[in-house]
Amino acid sequence: MTRSILLLALAMGVILGPLEGRGEVPSFGGAVKGGLTLSVIYDNNPYDPRLSTAWGFSCLIEGAGLKVLFDTGGDGPLLLSNMEALGLRAEGIEAVVLSHIHGDHTGGLQVLLRRLQGVTLYLPQSFPQGFKDRVRLHGARVREVRGPLEICPGVYSTGEMGRGLKEQALLLRTRVGTILITGCAHPGVVQMVARARELTGGPISLVMGGFHLLGLPQAEVREIARALRGLGVCCVGPCHCSGQEARRVFREEFGPRFIEVGVGRRIGLKEIEGMVRRRR
Ligand SMILES: [Zn+2]
Ligand SMILES: [Zn+2]
Repeated sequence: MTRSILLLALAMGVILGPLEGRGEVPSFGGAVKGGLTLSVIYDNNPYDPRLSTAWGFSCLIEGAGLKVLFDTGGDGPLLLSNMEALGLRAEGIEAVVLSHIHGDHTGGLQVLLRRLQGVTLYLPQSFPQGFKDRVRLHGARVREVRGPLEICPGVYSTGEMGRGLKEQALLLRTRVGTILITGCAHPGVVQMVARARELTGGPISLVMGGFHLLGLPQAEVREIARALRGLGVCCVGPCHCSGQEARRVFREEFGPRFIEVGVGRRIGLKEIEGMVRRRR
């Protein structure tokens, strides 16, 4: 079996086996109504010079009656000042989703919770009990995520993935297709895209976030990029722990459907729609 076939087989779940918790899998029919804006408010890659870079990741998802934060970066004050630089407010965030336990994704949470009384926090059930107790003390509601679930209309979690370090990614069902946002993609970005496909049953218009490819040989990165294309991914926006070298390879493989993502980058559905249309 060549490596690329192996990767695809892994991705399609042939080797990993069936989806856990299938009995609880929600219906993935519901989509976000109206427009949607994704704002990267914490990242180690520069984009908008008004914001500061730092190691970590956070993305705010806003739509009509929808305000969800995915990851919180490593530092609360920096997260808030980056939001301010874009004219965004933390108030009104209804749900905070933490991809995994690493401090560059959870470090901003404490400062944020002081501003968000009664917010619902979605975290992998494998998080330490002490962490869950601390956030409850701040008045947050905790939803422990095991299998895939709906967070609000059109917004879903892939469910906990990975054998060692557990991680969840965010799925957005929109009029331009499914968007997948990853924190670090420790379980493997190909596996996470395959899960997204399995859950939604259709192609993925955009995969954005940390792809965890730092230091990987170029040939392997290229195979991963091609595996994503093989899984029907239209556009990619690798940032955070993807690495400069991997970003270069993805740019080569995806051409005009590579999105440069860094701190302060905002992406709306219209932009994605334009790229998806041009591909046809
Ligand atoms: Zn990270
Ligand atoms: Zn990580």
